[in-house]
Amino acid sequence: MILKDGAACLRNLIHLFRPAASSLTSKLGACYFCTSHVASLQQPGKPSVFSSDDEYADLDWDNLGFSIKPADYMYTMKCSKHENFKQGQLSRYANIELSPSAAVLNYGQGVYEGTKAYRTEDGRILLFRPDLNASRMKIGAERMCMPSPSVDQFVDAVKQIALANKRWVPPPGKGTLYIRPLLIGSGPVLGLGPAPEYTFLAYASPVGNYFKEGSAPLNLYIEEEFVRAAPGGAGGVKAISNYAPVLKALIRAKSRGFSDVLYLDSVNRKNVEEVSSCNIFVVKGNVISTPATNGTILEGITRRSVIEIARDYGYQVEERVIPVDELINADQVFCTGTAVVVAPVGSITYQNKRVEFKTGSRSVYQELYSTLVGIQTGVIEDKKGWTVEV
Ligand SMILES: *Cc1c(COP(=O)(O)O)cnc(C)c1O
Repeated sequence: MILKDGAACLRNLIHLFRPAASSLTSKLGACYFCTSHVASLQQPGKPSVFSSDDEYADLDWDNLGFSIKPADYMYTMKCSKHENFKQGQLSRYANIELSPSAAVLNYGQGVYEGTKAYRTEDGRILLFRPDLNASRMKIGAERMCMPSPSVDQFVDAVKQIALANKRWVPPPGKGTLYIRPLLIGSGPVLGLGPAPEYTFLAYASPVGNYFKEGSAPLNLYIEEEFVRAAPGGAGGVKAISNYAPVLKALIRAKSRGFSDVLYLDSVNRKNVEEVSSCNIFVVKGNVISTPATNGTILEGITRRSVIEIARDYGYQVEERVIPVDELINADQVFCTGTAVVVAPVGSITYQNKRVEFKTGSRSVYQELYSTLVGIQTGVIEDKKGWTVEV
C-alpha cells in the first residue's frame, strides 16, 4: 500500500482498517495518515496497527476445511538479483501485479513454505519452529537460483502475518491459521535464466482438516506410472514446480475414491518415497521407519519433530530405504506434514491389492499426534523450545 497525499491516504487507511475503521481512526489521530508513520508502525517487535479490535473474524469456525479464505493482510518484500531483501511491508490481501514475462509464470522459478499459527486456550498465539521453514526456504531458493530472506526476516514476516491476522486464527480446537510464505522470480525474462527481480510474499488462511476424510484413516494409492521426483531434481525442496506434475496422479486417485497418492522412487520403482504433500512412516512393533531423505523426498519439519518425539517415547526410529513389499507386514502407517499434521493410514492399494492397517485410539500415531499438537497449541509444556509466541 502506498500512502502519498492526505486524501488518498485517509481513504486507504479506512479501507485498510475496515473491520474497525471508526475506532482506529479516532485512536490514531491525524498524524498517522502519512507514509513515515505507517512505515514505522510495521517495524519488527513493535505492536502493529495492522490488527483489528474484533476478537474473531466472521466465519463458520465449526466447518473449516482446507480451502482459501484469505485473512486481511499479506506481507510483501522485494529485491533485485545479487541484492539482499530489505524491509518488507504489510498491506491488505489483494491481487498482485506481474509482468507476463515474469520468470515464475514462464519458467516456474519459485519456492513456497507452509507453517501455522495456533491459538492457545489462554489466548496466546504460537508459531511452531518457523526458523526451520526459514532455513528450508533458503536451501530451496539456492537450488532455484534465487536470493532469499534471512532467517530473521522470514520469521519476522511470519510473526507479522500472524499478529496482523490474529482475528483469523481459529478458536482452540477448531483449526489453525495456515501461513503461506512464497518466494518468486517476479522480474521479466525471455530466454531461460534467473529473474532480475524477486518477491517474497506471505499470506494466510484459516484451515481445519486437510483431507475431506477429517481425521478418518486415509486410503492411499501407490502410483506406478508417474513419479514425483528424480535424483538430481528438486524433489527435496518446496519448489513450486514439483506440484502441478503430480495433479494428474492425484486427481485420478481421488476419482477412484482414494485420499492421496503414495509415490515410489523413480529409479527402481520399488521403494516408498512420500505422499503428494506429506511424509510417510511405517510402524512395526517398537520400530518406526520412514524413508531416508536423499534429495527426492521433502524433509518435513513435522517429520523431523515426530522422529524426535517418537525417540523420546522410546521407539526405535529408522530413516532408511523402505521397499514397497514391506508395507504388507506393517502394523500401522501414518503421514506427517504441517497441513495434514499426523494422519493415520487405513489402507494402501498397490497393483490392485489393498493392504489394511490398524488404526484407532491406541495407535502409535495417536500418541505422537497428541504430543505434537499438545506442544503446538500450548497444552503440553514445550521443553524443546519449538514454539514461538507472537
Ligand atoms: C511440505 C511437504 C511435506 C511436509 O513438510 P512439513 O514441513 O512437515 O510441512 C512433505 N512432503 C512434501 C512433498 C511437501 O511439499
